[in-house]
Amino acid sequence: MSGSLKLFSLPWGAPSLKESIISMSSPEKVLIPLRSSLCTTGELLISEGDVVTAGQPLTRADGINAVAVHASIAGKVKRIFLQKDIQGEDISFVEIEREGKQEDFKGASGNQDCLKMSQDEMVQRITDCGVMGARFRPGCVPLGTKIKGAGCEDTHGQQEGMKSVSAIQKLVVTVFDPEPPITINRALLNGDRDRLGKALAALAALAGVGQVHVAYPEDDSEARGILSSISSVRVVPSPVDISYPNGSVRLIIKQLFNEELPMPDGVPLDCGIMVETLENAFGVLDALENKKPVTQKVITIAGSCFAKSVNIQVYIGTPLSDIVDYFGGFKEEPKKIILGGPMRGFAQVGLDIGITKEVDAFIALSGKDVTPADIKPCINCGECINVCPMGLLPNMLYLCCENQYIEDAGQNNLGVCMECGSCGYVCPSDIPILHYIRYGKKALKVLEEAENEE
Ligand code: SF4
Ligand code: SF4
Repeated sequence: MSGSLKLFSLPWGAPSLKESIISMSSPEKVLIPLRSSLCTTGELLISEGDVVTAGQPLTRADGINAVAVHASIAGKVKRIFLQKDIQGEDISFVEIEREGKQEDFKGASGNQDCLKMSQDEMVQRITDCGVMGARFRPGCVPLGTKIKGAGCEDTHGQQEGMKSVSAIQKLVVTVFDPEPPITINRALLNGDRDRLGKALAALAALAGVGQVHVAYPEDDSEARGILSSISSVRVVPSPVDISYPNGSVRLIIKQLFNEELPMPDGVPLDCGIMVETLENAFGVLDALENKKPVTQKVITIAGSCFAKSVNIQVYIGTPLSDIVDYFGGFKEEPKKIILGGPMRGFAQVGLDIGITKEVDAFIALSGKDVTPADIKPCINCGECINVCPMGLLPNMLYLCCENQYIEDAGQNNLGVCMECGSCGYVCPSDIPILHYIRYGKKALKVLEEAENEE
């Protein structure tokens, strides 16, 4: 591994962890994608004009990499249409107009014996309830797919072959978010202790392990205190350095177990390790105990255009414009809208896009935080190489991608890039290296799909 970057001072800060997570009421309409970025679309169960209840399945998971999608609010299916998702891919969306009495889907009454279910039953349940896995390479796959070890975490869509659940030897749950100012998992740690313990126990049962390594920021004594109080499952409090980008999955595994994932496209299960977020552990508990589907998402709101940074729970599909209205509008007109963190997030062209299960932040930046691009030629300073946590040659990768030498980029481990953005951040020539890398990955995927069809 090469050196890491000590990032970064944000002028507008992270949400205060002393404040609870806000809950936003249901919006007038939701725009729900029928799949997440690395999933396949399940079988569609509704048509335009149908009236749906909150929590009703819109799709059924009918493939190894599909996960059910649910209505987050009650209302009428106004349209099913193609739209660019947050990463710019054309994906089918469902627009539901709010109608009638809004009642959240509470789920079935608590099943106290849910942890006695077989692992196959648990996997089926979380898949039916739409529980996603933590992001590894950019994008998420269903948690059930990860458990079954189908290896679909690879952005090239390669399959590493099925592994049995018993392949999981260690379970790590993260109670932080790797990219400032996002703090949703740390904020969730401050919630109900009993439920926290149950969530960790549910994830451990699903993974088939007897203890949970809970990774927390090494300077966070409060987090350690909370973890020490859990008795419903054996918790191993595991301090980690989360200075960016050390909190990424690959680097956490290195920190905690001194294990390196195989290059170029190893996944945590190759080392018998599963890394999940606390948020997903709560999703597992809701699914197993109450058959409650994922219809809401906690996100961090931040940036100079908002009055303050907060963590808020919103309904999946809530348009960005509704969130802005909820906070009384922007303080000043944004120059840049980002879904995700400032380093790895995706810039958006407008506010008519809904929050998805993959979105962990909504950042709105004013002109003073966005310097106009002044891209200059590469001066071969090597700064990007020094900072790359994956030991790549970002200058080489961007040149290959810029000049359409996509296969050469692939041979130089383009797929290994974890899209941390550190290379572009330090580049004195302001070259948007990550932008080129993302373009190259998409082009490589197209090339590989074409080859597979021949
Ligand atoms: S974005 Fe990719 S190439 Fe650039 S520093 Fe991060 S891992 Fe390395
Ligand atoms: S940091 Fe920028 S200028 Fe320096 S080698 Fe990398 S791409 Fe070239």
